[in-house]
Amino acid sequence: QLVEGGCAGCGVKLQTTANDKPGYIPDSALEREPAICQRCFRIKNYNDATTVTIDQDDFIKLLGGIANTESLVVHIVDIFDFEGSLISGLQRFVGNNPVLLVVNKIDLLPKGVNLNRLRNWVQKQAKTQGLRILDVVLCSAKRNMGFERVIEALGEHRGKRDVYVVGATNVGKSTLINRLIHDFSDLERELTTSRYPGTTLDAVHIPLDDGHDIIDTPGIVYAHRMTEVVPRDVLQALLPDKPIKQLVYQLNEQQTLFIGALARFDFIEGARQSFSLYISNALPVHRTKLERADELYADHKGVMLAPPKAEQLDEIPAWTRHRLTIRRGTDTDIYISGLGWIHVNSGDGALVDIHAPKGIRVLLRDALI
Ligand code: GDP
Repeated sequence: QLVEGGCAGCGVKLQTTANDKPGYIPDSALEREPAICQRCFRIKNYNDATTVTIDQDDFIKLLGGIANTESLVVHIVDIFDFEGSLISGLQRFVGNNPVLLVVNKIDLLPKGVNLNRLRNWVQKQAKTQGLRILDVVLCSAKRNMGFERVIEALGEHRGKRDVYVVGATNVGKSTLINRLIHDFSDLERELTTSRYPGTTLDAVHIPLDDGHDIIDTPGIVYAHRMTEVVPRDVLQALLPDKPIKQLVYQLNEQQTLFIGALARFDFIEGARQSFSLYISNALPVHRTKLERADELYADHKGVMLAPPKAEQLDEIPAWTRHRLTIRRGTDTDIYISGLGWIHVNSGDGALVDIHAPKGIRVLLRDALI
């Protein structure tokens, strides 16, 4: 059955009979003003359509396919979990296609952070990881910071090519694509998403007016990120939503900090110095003497030391210990993937232990801030 008038989104003739054919609109949606076809409806409400995730093997196959295309690759990473959300080996998979690095969630950084310094830091880290990038764009998809620059960079670098958007889960890929679709259709007439998006098994094609597509790939799940191994309600506490206020602790050696029951930091050896925690402010921190730490954990895990709650402790891998030596005179972060980092400005050096769920990536890096 044909419906009068076209879809207000893409202009296709509307019909209510075949839900696998263009222009389909469910009877129930006919009343909606303006009437739009189901596909346009899905683009508008894109968040619902992108819960797709895949594992490493399928992801690598998909990425490998990009090498045979002529496209611009937009790699979205999360500034709060930079190393953890960077796709290692991306360069190999995408072949000669240029990569634009979009660093999302900069709204989470403490106020007054020097963005030029941050950009240099990102560039240096990306280079260390073997990634050749065209450009770095810092933005917040959620708070609409730096987004004009994202659009601009896409305009500059896209030419007449498709755009592949790749990223790990929870970096804000769907938030960003939503905004892209919105802004492209608002700001750049010729780039409106005027045809209906087709979906293949593994990627969502969002057509642009010039015959090219934005292609959203599924988010890759990395088990080395704390965010990917915790239950849903713990994720809420783990992902900050406001600018992080750093927590500064002046510690003597042989003191311990618990971050909920998610990780433990032991200052083993070194002169009294300050350690600044950059973690979600929803996570409680407890300080104790190293000699009491095991007992405190045994007695209070899952209750005072939470999240996770007692009944969730088994859902997370048991802790392993990482012993780290922070060299004299360095400005270093102890980075715990998905949880955040501990900044050490170490005049005298320090020996520390991090206890974190097995498999979670823990490393030292040049200070981000
Ligand atoms: P995806 O899995 O990569 O598609 O990520 P989503 O778009 O679903 O976002 C994952 C989480 O990060 C959600 O809780 C978002 O609200 C949040 N998020 C996305 N973009 C931003 C941002 O720019 N800043 C902040 N603070 N949070 C963001």
